[in-house]
Parts: sequence; C-alpha cells; structure tokens
Amino acid sequence: MLALAPITFWLLVDGYPTFAVLVAGTVLYLAMLPDVDHRIPGISHRGPTHSLLFAGVVGAAFAGAASLVEPVFSIAVPGGVSMVAFGFLLGFGAVLAHLLGDVITPAGVNFLWPYPREWSLSLTTADSTLWNWGLFALGVFAMAAAVALAAQGVAI
Ligand SMILES: [Zn+2]
Repeated sequence: MLALAPITFWLLVDGYPTFAVLVAGTVLYLAMLPDVDHRIPGISHRGPTHSLLFAGVVGAAFAGAASLVEPVFSIAVPGGVSMVAFGFLLGFGAVLAHLLGDVITPAGVNFLWPYPREWSLSLTTADSTLWNWGLFALGVFAMAAAVALAAQGVAI
C-alpha cells in the first residue's frame, strides 16, 4: 500500500479516476496472492509463490489477459504505455510488493526459487503485532493522503 499510494495519487491527479480504482483494487488483491501457499497442500510456504519467477508468471498472465482485452475494451492507460506492458508491470509489481513485505521477517524470502537461498532482513517477526499494524496504518494513511491530496487538485 505504501508503494501504491504515490501511483494512486498520480493517476487521480492526471484524471484517470476509474483507472486508479482499478489499479488499487487489483494490486491489493494480487498482493495477497503469494500466501495462497498456506492453503495449497504440498507447496511449502514461501517457496514457489514467493519468488521473482512467480512474479514474472503473474505479470505474464496479466499481459496475456490485457492483450486479449485490448482490442475489445481499451482503457486509457496513462503515459502512452501499452495495456500489455502495463498488465505485466501490474502483476509483477503486486507480487514483488508482497515479497518486499515478507523480506523484513526472519523467515525471509526465496527470491530465486528454485535456487535455494533465503533473503531476510530480520527486522521483525511475521507475527509482530506492532509491525503489522504499524505498516498497515502507515499504508492506509498514505492511501488516504494520496486520495485527499488528489481530490484537492494539488499539483505534483
Ligand atoms: Zn507471504
């Protein structure tokens, strides 16, 4: 959410409100996706779904979906980026955001899965209430600030 706030702000200010909502919703949903490994038996937690490979696969899936959708239903993508390129960035970025959230825990993240190496900053534990709520509150605050600033038409 911290990473998302400036993007949302920029999209709102640039006059893409529908697009901003779409992007924010997709990223928030996708950011939770790597933790499906909690629910799928046989896949180790923070294994395959917590890697740059997985981020790339999700990005590619979005790029593919965008290429199918583009001819029928074209959304104005800011900055002249193609929908396919944007779809990839959206999927890849959302998973990456999740990995960056996990890397501050001692369990770490295996970015280069299947190559076995864990990266961890060991700043906190995953169940640290303070960190979870602190980061969550910070994210909500950043989002609220982005929307409020954009609503007032503040120039960047
Ligand atoms: Zn995770």
